[in-house]
Amino acid sequence: MTERIETGACFCGAIAAELRGEPIWIVYDHDDDCRRAIGSPLTVWIGYRSDQLRFTRGTPKTFSKTRGIERSFCADCGTSIGYCDAGLPGEVHLCIGFMDHPERFPPQAHSFWPLKLPWVEMADTLPRLDATSRRRAAAFGDPATRKCG
Ligand SMILES: [Zn+2]
Repeated sequence: MTERIETGACFCGAIAAELRGEPIWIVYDHDDDCRRAIGSPLTVWIGYRSDQLRFTRGTPKTFSKTRGIERSFCADCGTSIGYCDAGLPGEVHLCIGFMDHPERFPPQAHSFWPLKLPWVEMADTLPRLDATSRRRAAAFGDPATRKCG
């Protein structure tokens, strides 16, 4: 069986990446921090192990507002690329919009369901989770309750 290879790129093309193998998980995210950072009512994150990701062009710029969370984006066009969470070591989460074939990543659950906007209606039968779909290192707390200034 041949290894699955997916690619992604930002809007201007300055950043491109290759992902090898199957993603670990794929979730809708209704979290308000991500909503603001990405500028979208919700998003879909695709989780990979860090060693599955290789940037083939350019280097994303990173930004951190919340302890343990580092977001990456294209410094030229602003496309959101992903985030790393110190509470989930060895993993990287890519934004669905960065992928060249987003149709190949059907979500498996809804994370932060209580933060969903009231007019967003979802007809699927996927699990609705109160927080993240992944167990995080306790030292970094719950992203739903930690506030940063
Ligand atoms: Zn770009």
